[in-house]
Amino acid sequence: MKYEPVIGLEVHAEMQTRSKMFCACAVVDNTLAAPNSAVCPVCAGMPGTLPVVNERAVEFALRVALALECTVNPVSVFARKNYFYPDLPKGYQISQYEEPLAVNGRLVIKTSAGEKTIRVRRVHLEEDTGKLTHVDGGSLLDLNRAGVSLLEIVSEPDIRSAEEAVAYGEALRHILRYLEVNSGDMEKGVIRFEANISVRPAGTDELNTRSEVKNLNSFRALERSILFETERQSKIVEAGGTVEQETLGWSEAKEQTYSQRSKEDAHDYRYFPEPDLPPLKVSEAWLTRVRGELPELPRTKATRFISQYGLTDYDAARLIEERVFADYYEQAANRQSKIENPKLIANWLLGDVFSALNTRGETLTRSTVRPEALGELVSLVAGGEINQATGKIVLAEMFESGRGAAEIVESQGLKQVSDESLIREMVSQALAENPKEVESYRAGKLGVANFLFGAAMKKAAGKANPQVVRAELEKQLAS
Ligand code: ADP
Ligand code: MG
Ligand code: ZN
Repeated sequence: MKYEPVIGLEVHAEMQTRSKMFCACAVVDNTLAAPNSAVCPVCAGMPGTLPVVNERAVEFALRVALALECTVNPVSVFARKNYFYPDLPKGYQISQYEEPLAVNGRLVIKTSAGEKTIRVRRVHLEEDTGKLTHVDGGSLLDLNRAGVSLLEIVSEPDIRSAEEAVAYGEALRHILRYLEVNSGDMEKGVIRFEANISVRPAGTDELNTRSEVKNLNSFRALERSILFETERQSKIVEAGGTVEQETLGWSEAKEQTYSQRSKEDAHDYRYFPEPDLPPLKVSEAWLTRVRGELPELPRTKATRFISQYGLTDYDAARLIEERVFADYYEQAANRQSKIENPKLIANWLLGDVFSALNTRGETLTRSTVRPEALGELVSLVAGGEINQATGKIVLAEMFESGRGAAEIVESQGLKQVSDESLIREMVSQALAENPKEVESYRAGKLGVANFLFGAAMKKAAGKANPQVVRAELEKQLAS
C-alpha cells in the first residue's frame, strides 16, 4: 500500500524589534554579540521583577497575522507555560495558550503541482529561551536570546509532502522579510521549524498518531526529516505496528530522527494566565492602521508584475525575491513616468546587472548604477542607438564611473553605425580581404559566413548594427 504523510508545521520566528518582549534589553545578533551581554534581571528571571509588553513586538505580530489573513482577537491572554530547563531561568515561558493573538488564517504556497492553500490555525506571541552550548565537561548558557519576542505560527495539518512543507516555510519566510519583522537569516536561527508528521493510506482522510520533530533550523533539515519520518512510519504501519506519539530530534550527522521523549513523559505545562500581565487588547483603530501600512506582499506583487509588465512567471518570481530588486526594477521600467521596455529591463537586470554585482561583490542597493541609468541604457539599445554588445561595454563603464549611459555613448563615440552605404562599404572590404573564405563559402561551406560577419563587424569596431551587417553580407555573398 502507498502511504502519504500528513504534516502540520509550527514555525517560530523572532520578531526583530530593537528590544526584547518584556524588558528593555537589546535584541542582538547571536553570532556576533558576546554571550550574556544583553541580559537584565527581568529576562534572567530574578524574583520580584515584572514584565512589560513590548508594543512594537505586538505590532510586528499584527503585521504577520494580517498578512496571513487571520482573524485578530480583540483580547488575547498571556499565560505561563511551566517547565524546568536550564535555558529557561524563570522556570516558565510566557506564551499565549487558550486565547492567542490571532486565528484562522491562510497561506498560499506554490509547488511543482501548482498553487495550494494551507490553513493557518493560530498565531501567538511568546518569548524565546536562552541558548545552551554543550562542551566537554559541561554546558554553557547564553541568555542573550532569552526573552526575545517570538511569534509562533501553527498550520492546520494540510501539508502533504516534504516539498509542500519547504514551500510553506519559504513562503512564510518571504512574507516575514517583506514585512520587515525578521531578517530571514536561517543560519542565525531566527526562524525555526517543528514538523508534526503522521502517515495514512494515500487518498484516505484519517488523522493518525503523529510524531513531532523539534528544532529544525534549515529547509534542508525540514525536508530530510519529513522524508525520513514518512518512510519510518510507513514501514511501521506496513509491518502491522502502531506509530507512537513521540517528540523527536533530528540528527544532522546521521540524517535520522531520534526519540527525545515519549507520550508517557510528555510535559504537563500547567498553563495558567500570567498574573503579572493584563490581557492584551488590540483596538480596531490599531488594526486598521497596521493593515493600511502593510506592504504589497510577494504573491500579489508577482501577479501584478506578470500582468502589468508582461513578464514571465520565472522573471517575476526572481524580481520579487527581494523588495529592493522589485523596487529597483519598477523605477527602471517607469523611468519617465511611463512603462518602457519592461521585458528588456528585466533581462538586463537579472542577467548582466546581477552578474556584474556578483563579480564586483556589490549589492543592488549600494550599486553605482541607479535604476534610471539602467532604464536609459536599455532604451538606447531598444532604440537602436547602440547594439547589444556595445550596451554591455557601456554597462561596465557605468559600473566603473557611475556615469550615465547616454553620456558614455556620446563621449566615447559608441553610437551604432546603421548607415547602409557605410555598411555596404565595410562588408565589401571584408570580403575583398578574405577571398579564400568567400570562395569556400560559395563552394558550400556555409559556416564560414560567421567568420566573414565577424570580419565585417570589426571594420566598425563592433559598433555596426548587426542585423544590417548580416543582411548586407548575405546579399553580397549571394551576388
Ligand atoms: P500541540 O499543541 O500539542 O503541539 P496541536 O493540536 O496544537 O498540538 O497541533 C500542533 C500541530 O500538529 C499543528 O500544526 C497541527 O496541524 C498538527 N497536527 C495535529 N494533528 C496531526 C496529525 N494527526 N498529523 C499530523 N499533524 C498533525
Ligand atoms: Mg506542538
Ligand atoms: Zn532583559
